[in-house]
Amino acid sequence: MIASVYLHVPFCAKKCEYCAFYSEGTDSGRMDRFVAALIKEIGRHAALANPKTVFFGGGTPTLLTLAQWRRIFAALTAAGWTNVEEFTIEGNPATISLDKATLFRDHGVNRFSMGVQSLDAPLLERLGRVHTREMVFRSVDILRRAGFDNLNLDLMFAIPGQTMAVWSSTLDEILDLKSEHLSCYEVIYEADTPLYEQLQAGAFDVDEEQACEMYDLMVDRLAARGYRQYEIANFARSDADERDDQPRRACRHNINYWTGGEYLGLGPAAAGHLQGQRYQNWANTDLYCQAIEADRLPRDGGERLNPLAKASESAAFSLRMNRGIDLRGFEDRTGFRLEQTWARELETLVVNGWAEHAEGCFRLTRRGLRFADAAGAELLKG
Ligand code: SF4
Repeated sequence: MIASVYLHVPFCAKKCEYCAFYSEGTDSGRMDRFVAALIKEIGRHAALANPKTVFFGGGTPTLLTLAQWRRIFAALTAAGWTNVEEFTIEGNPATISLDKATLFRDHGVNRFSMGVQSLDAPLLERLGRVHTREMVFRSVDILRRAGFDNLNLDLMFAIPGQTMAVWSSTLDEILDLKSEHLSCYEVIYEADTPLYEQLQAGAFDVDEEQACEMYDLMVDRLAARGYRQYEIANFARSDADERDDQPRRACRHNINYWTGGEYLGLGPAAAGHLQGQRYQNWANTDLYCQAIEADRLPRDGGERLNPLAKASESAAFSLRMNRGIDLRGFEDRTGFRLEQTWARELETLVVNGWAEHAEGCFRLTRRGLRFADAAGAELLKG
């Protein structure tokens, strides 16, 4: 049985300058049609999954109305998908109300992830965000009042025009909000985004050295304030008596991705990994709805990875986590011995100072974590 379900809500009030996720503008008729299709897709897959984690991402899931959410929760309840260990909804600070937050809590949502990105007004504008810094503070207050005790805040660094001083004060202000979890990503210049086009047109330069300094400042500052890094971009507040190899507030849903687990992806543009096969739903709400309404799977294709390719992908993803690759667990899961099949690649990473062997694991060093994508690419085979 599948233990993780991702559901994509493809609507945003406005497209951010850097964003390459599939989303479209709001239109109440289209949103209603989408909700009806999603509910049908949930019903169709109910017997396939017995989820421990459910994650609504987007897009901006909090743009859906209370009435639409009630219909979705009824479908999740009918599918038996509400009594889960970790139930996350993502949202934008401009779209969070006490009514909605309370409805979420009443239906078992126990983790809320908010896209903050920056607390600097000019940078929020630069990124094309629809929210203000004040809305962030107000939303955190609303979510706490509704009873959320597991909040994630998303931040970005190395934003064009962001200075070290601005980054430092954003970190301080974010830390004062005492969220249980922080996800901090360096800006990525994705093709076909306005930010990428501005870069191509020479509107600004990328300062890699400063990006490294920002990363180091973040890792040190968050550690000093009690957050444990467990993945290159993810930190969770750790409890004094914590013994697990992951912080208690680590995102279980994402850990399943990083360890090569299976998951169901529902909604337009959602990806899934089922019985060794990857698939992708149509990144087009009309095509998605048409397929569901005609009782067809809304798939835009898929692929079956061979065992070596699948194992190497799992190794590359696991390297993103601070604990690295658990050697025995990896062999149990994939049938391959990492130290044997990837002996030459591991040696190269160690010689470069990017990785090390430690307590039954192979993991990146602090320097290597900064280059996790390149290090992971070394392991891809098949
Ligand atoms: S709110 Fe999120 S999903 Fe929507 S455009 Fe901005 S970054 Fe993309």
